[in-house]
Amino acid sequence: MIVMKFGGTSVEDASAIRRVMQIVEGRLQQQPVVVVSALAKVTDQLHTMARASGAGNRETATALARRLQERHTQVAAALLGQPAFEEFHPVLDEIFQNLNELLRGIAAVGELTPRSADHVLAYGEILSSKIVAAAFHAHKLPVTHADSRECIVTDQQFTRATPLLEETSSRLHKIIAPMLAAGRVPVMGGFIAATKAGITTTIGRGGSDFSAAIVGAGLGAERIEIWTDVDGMMTTDPNLCPDAHRIKNISFDEAAELAYFGAKVLHPATVLPAIQKNIPVYVLNSRNPNCEGTRISARPAKSRNFLKAIAAKKRITIIDIASPRMLLAHGFLKAIFDAFDRHRIAVDVVSTSEVSVSLTVDSNESIPALAAELAALADVKYEGRKAIICLVGENLREVPGIAAHVFGELQDIKIRMISQGASEINLSFVVEEEHVPEIVQRLHRKFFSDPDPDVFA
Ligand code: ADP
Ligand code: ASP
Ligand code: MG
Repeated sequence: MIVMKFGGTSVEDASAIRRVMQIVEGRLQQQPVVVVSALAKVTDQLHTMARASGAGNRETATALARRLQERHTQVAAALLGQPAFEEFHPVLDEIFQNLNELLRGIAAVGELTPRSADHVLAYGEILSSKIVAAAFHAHKLPVTHADSRECIVTDQQFTRATPLLEETSSRLHKIIAPMLAAGRVPVMGGFIAATKAGITTTIGRGGSDFSAAIVGAGLGAERIEIWTDVDGMMTTDPNLCPDAHRIKNISFDEAAELAYFGAKVLHPATVLPAIQKNIPVYVLNSRNPNCEGTRISARPAKSRNFLKAIAAKKRITIIDIASPRMLLAHGFLKAIFDAFDRHRIAVDVVSTSEVSVSLTVDSNESIPALAAELAALADVKYEGRKAIICLVGENLREVPGIAAHVFGELQDIKIRMISQGASEINLSFVVEEEHVPEIVQRLHRKFFSDPDPDVFA
């Protein structure tokens, strides 16, 4: 069997969903499980709605919900044709009645907890999976809708829950495997799950890719396909650099580094389940389904080029902690990291000197509280609007002198922190956020002007 995940733009409207049907139809022999995201932008809109309710702005929330209902109703009407649409309409109405009730409840309490946020956010994938399943049905594809909240079990960290893999695998075997055995195509929502007790959770923004990988690993898929709106993983974000090349083959490790450091095309956790079961992951374009995309696997062909790709992660804050007396003292770094841990703030890049330590974190609202706590230990300064530029490639491990080429190219740019990660396949450094496009374009020109045709398209 295979898993086919379709992202938000791949199910954004009726014609996109028709393309999905064609693509899935062409793979029926391979026993697909279909995982879908919410229609494009819907998760953001649900977020806005939930926040408006939490702030007591019931009118705003209800107006947004009405627009969402209109959009989904139009898409369903365009896809289903008259009799099927009439049958489906009450399903949609009921879903929106429930959403409205939930928004009213949140507005009445006047507080949005992560737990109730997840209840709202889940509606995107509940709706998309039902509509896609109804469309498949209307087009005589042998489909069965599966509720991801019954199949994927997580802990209780609402809005960024962690899947419990063993329990999930056993649910998948109980619920999804029999559908496949009966020749059905299961269609389920990505991103959403539930705790053991059945309370709705979500697994973090962009998490449908991760859902697909969890399903693939749990059921022992031959391949996991991530269908999106670009031809594959590219040598850099094509929005930053229109002449980015498609990467034909990339290793799990390289893809994971790129995803972690900002290549939005893949959720960073996606490759973990795939690595564990050694399942190749393909990134494919639902608007250009004949393109062979990117194959992510354990041991891809070597490349002549120094690098595989360049990623940039924006919205980074640097925290500088200076303590001439304390830094090398026993337990000082532990005390610092304990504080980060208490505030649940993850650190990306670290550099130390004799008197100070600098760390980068994703910019977020907990930083002032963390800084206040650290101020008891040392002098603390923090500065936002930074970005991490991350160069990735297995060749960084073996070929000497690459750093000289990189920083030679960027002599006029102020570079704050440099780190060659322990993975040895990533070289990252911190710059001002506003310099990102220029830096990426310059480095891309330098390193990819003559791409190895065995690895890049
Ligand atoms: P989906 O909705 O299908 O999950 P996403 O928007 O999450 O799609 O990811 C696809 C987008 O990722 C592309 O449209 C592109 O703008 C962006 N992107 C960033 N870096 C890269 C990269 N290195 N290769 C391909 N796409 C990238
Ligand atoms: N719909 C969710 C989001 O926008 C999950 C996903 O699309 O991967 O974050
Ligand atoms: Mg995505």
